[in-house]
Amino acid sequence: HLDRITAVDKSVNAFLHVDTRGALSAARAVDEDVAAGREPASPLAGVPLALKDVFTMSGLPTTCGSKILENWIPPYDATVTRKLLEAGIVILGKTNMDEFAMGSSTENSAFGPSHNPWDLDRIPGGSGGGSSASLAAFEAPLAIGTDTGGSIRQPASVTGTVGVKPTYGGVSRYGLVAFSSSLDQGGPCARTVLDAALLHEVIAGYDQLDSTSINAPVPPVVKAAREGANGDLSGVRVGVVREFQGDGYQAGVTTAFEQAVEVLKGMGAEVVEVSCPHFTYGLPAYYLIAPSEASSNLARFDAMRYGLRVGDDGEASAEQVMALTREAGFGPEVKRRIMIGTYALSSGYYDAYYGQAQKVRTLISRDFENAFEQVDVLVSPTTPTTAFRIGERVDDPMAMYLADLCTIPANLAGTPAMSVPAGLAADDGLPVGLQVMAPALQEERMYKVAAAYE
Ligand code: GLN
Repeated sequence: HLDRITAVDKSVNAFLHVDTRGALSAARAVDEDVAAGREPASPLAGVPLALKDVFTMSGLPTTCGSKILENWIPPYDATVTRKLLEAGIVILGKTNMDEFAMGSSTENSAFGPSHNPWDLDRIPGGSGGGSSASLAAFEAPLAIGTDTGGSIRQPASVTGTVGVKPTYGGVSRYGLVAFSSSLDQGGPCARTVLDAALLHEVIAGYDQLDSTSINAPVPPVVKAAREGANGDLSGVRVGVVREFQGDGYQAGVTTAFEQAVEVLKGMGAEVVEVSCPHFTYGLPAYYLIAPSEASSNLARFDAMRYGLRVGDDGEASAEQVMALTREAGFGPEVKRRIMIGTYALSSGYYDAYYGQAQKVRTLISRDFENAFEQVDVLVSPTTPTTAFRIGERVDDPMAMYLADLCTIPANLAGTPAMSVPAGLAADDGLPVGLQVMAPALQEERMYKVAAAYE
């Protein structure tokens, strides 16, 4: 995999940092265990992985795709990182991302965009485009992403890979640099559903270092993925979300999605249409809640504690250094979000914007609850279009935000959802993703359906 990275990453730009020495020494440790006849630490011991650059790993840079963190080396491991290392997984390096995970294309990275291996002129999705591109380019068989509004699932969809957003609180956020704390969730990325399930069981579980971690058993997703692989979905009720079809969806995406639904029927699933009337309000609610939380979380980048410091000439005040550093260190999208969030949280507007968005959030959770009284899982396209061209949406934030239309409801409700490849769109030959959503802590349902479909 290191050779493959050397050969292709100049054109893919999936990695911000490759840890050749660390990876080889971790791999050697697994070889030694095997040679000595010791039991491997986990079923994934020795398997290489690409880690999104939003998780800390002691001794390696963590930039979050931002200039403001350039050259910052964290002194500790995220819980996810620790679990990966303890499982004997070989971490190849840190992957590219939209700055602070804000974006749907990796074009907001301060270190240049990643490229979609299916067509290098196109985006690999975002914010976790480095992770998805590394999988699609065969630079790594496993990757870790984070999903605040779709940043695991949309990149998976547009690169023909598998990406899972677990139940909120299912995977520890300790050491995950915060964007929107009530939405952020780490999760597994892979090329097959079973690989994602194996990785899911390594990283999930209660962590007392994360106050929102759920103290409940990890759903048996490996068992579910193996069960699903026999292709029998009899007795499984699948709901097609009525609101996530029609206008605004690329024809090739719609056709691939409809074919996927037929395949599920052919496997014995009972398919019905289900209405979730508030899902279409998810996007505006998300784009108030996420920037609001971001404006507060990003206040910690004050030029004193981490990374970049600009204008500290011995005369300038702390406030001046802070302003100059944030001006130089944050990119345009991050600044836009800080402004929107600060505005939405300000006293005169709080109820009208933030408070209203929180009410919409509750209505979306209720839509899920009602839907799951009728069906076991919900399905939709993961994203309305296939991979768009690099540059096509950079000047149009609204067009960029539309990529998250179908993924956002699961973040707002805290429920699990995943994207599994659904073939290629007939109109442009690019990958399409099938999104499967399940109730909180019922990940096994979606793994079973995804494994059967795959
Ligand atoms: N594209 C969404 C955003 O820009 C989702 C990001 C994410 O899930 N981290 O906020």
